Amino acid sequence: WEGGGDMAAGGAGDAEGLWSSGAGELILLGLAPSAPSCPHGPALLFVKTSQGKERGRRFYACSACRDRKDCNFFQWEDEKVSETRLAAREEYNRTHQPPFTHRQNVERYKSFVLLPLSKRRFCQECQRLLLPAEWEKHSDHQFLCDITSAQLQSPSQLLYPLENKKTNAQYLFADRSCQFLLDLITDLGFRRVLSVGTPRLHEVIQSKASQEDFRIRSLLLDIDFRYSQFYSEDEFCHYNMFNHHFFGGEAARETCRKFLCQDNGERVIMVTDPPFGGLVEALSSSFKKLMAMWKDTEKEGHNNQELPMLWIFPYFFESRILEFFPSFSMLDYQVDYDNHALYKHGKTGRRQSPVRIFTNLSPSMVVLPVEEGYRFCTVCQRYVSSGNQHCEICNSCTSKDGRRWKHCVLCKKCVKPSWFHCNNCNCCALQNHICEKTDAGCFVCGKAGHKRSTCPSLS
Ligand code: SAH
Ligand code: ZN
Ligand code: ZN
Ligand code: ZN
Ligand code: ZN
Repeated sequence: WEGGGDMAAGGAGDAEGLWSSGAGELILLGLAPSAPSCPHGPALLFVKTSQGKERGRRFYACSACRDRKDCNFFQWEDEKVSETRLAAREEYNRTHQPPFTHRQNVERYKSFVLLPLSKRRFCQECQRLLLPAEWEKHSDHQFLCDITSAQLQSPSQLLYPLENKKTNAQYLFADRSCQFLLDLITDLGFRRVLSVGTPRLHEVIQSKASQEDFRIRSLLLDIDFRYSQFYSEDEFCHYNMFNHHFFGGEAARETCRKFLCQDNGERVIMVTDPPFGGLVEALSSSFKKLMAMWKDTEKEGHNNQELPMLWIFPYFFESRILEFFPSFSMLDYQVDYDNHALYKHGKTGRRQSPVRIFTNLSPSMVVLPVEEGYRFCTVCQRYVSSGNQHCEICNSCTSKDGRRWKHCVLCKKCVKPSWFHCNNCNCCALQNHICEKTDAGCFVCGKAGHKRSTCPSLS
């Protein structure tokens, strides 16, 4: 359901910088009960700010697409929308849904697997399994033939990753990280995994489950509808994690609720790897709703517990995530990816990945692979990376990026190894920094004029 449409006539320019590098100047006000909808479900309410103050009119914009090219929904909060425009919008939302429903895709899959290998085609242009009657229509498209059962069980290898940074940001786990997550989940005795935006983890679990005596099951929630071609309604829900919207309506929501609450809600864990550009507050609000779905089960005795969760996100979002989930801690494990040049593991001389796991599991329970250099710190009661030294003064293993940090007595904390204390600035910084001026782009929002520590989008 790509394609433009002119829903955003008037003022859409205000949403231009939305979620992009200018995100620091836009504040998310949240999901309003009466919010209008775009094809991606209820829109989110935003306001522009400058110097920490709300400026200008509040407006609604698409929750899922940070690029107007993908969805240009825009509406002022106080705007009067005419009946005609409302009707047009409804029509637009209806027509900008995928060509087949999930149910239809399930039926198509059933027919597809009955075909002999020689008739199993996958159109690469349309990213769709083709039935013989449809070949004609796709005759000038590139396609793959002889699609095997193994390929059908690994859709993340068959589909091309939607890398467009501002919307899907689909970065698939490297085998090393996927196997680590799977081993962790298995070793801790979990039986069900709610995979939110983790299609590769989901497929590894599902294909293992179909091959051997493996007891773990997964339910994938993802906005990438292409996956509905490969999974039944019990295995995949088309879901938007920025507004907790189930595209499949009440039935899909019920599938998710049942999955969470099965067996008294025991032995289930949620794993999520959202797009990093995503607003932490929107994600947190959705994750809390998923947690609440689980909490509503009739559980004896342990009412104060939280749904166990692994949230995979870059380390520099630590304070933001802890703000919303105070019970979480950040693990030292570096998560790496297949199709992301920057986020690959450092062991082979490549750059170190900044991506970590945030969890409400006790960090002492999460064993990190010793063969990759992780070790257990008995004082901190958690596994840390090899370079992460326990600081006697801070009384903690303080490195965030895996390198050995050093303590600054003036700053009263540990800082990056490349930093030195600057008496002008009264804090530690890179040796060649320009005092007071912070002209290098901020690490979080990319804008000049401030550093990560004072980024307005984190305030
Ligand atoms: N590392 C994971 C993939 C993470 S990439 C793995 O290998 O399994 C981010 C995932 O989130 C993608 O699958 C993408 O389709 C999904 N996604 C992006 N925006 C989303 C949204 N608004 N709601 C739900 N899922 C979303
Ligand atoms: Zn939208
Ligand atoms: Zn320590
Ligand atoms: Zn210092
Ligand atoms: Zn200075």
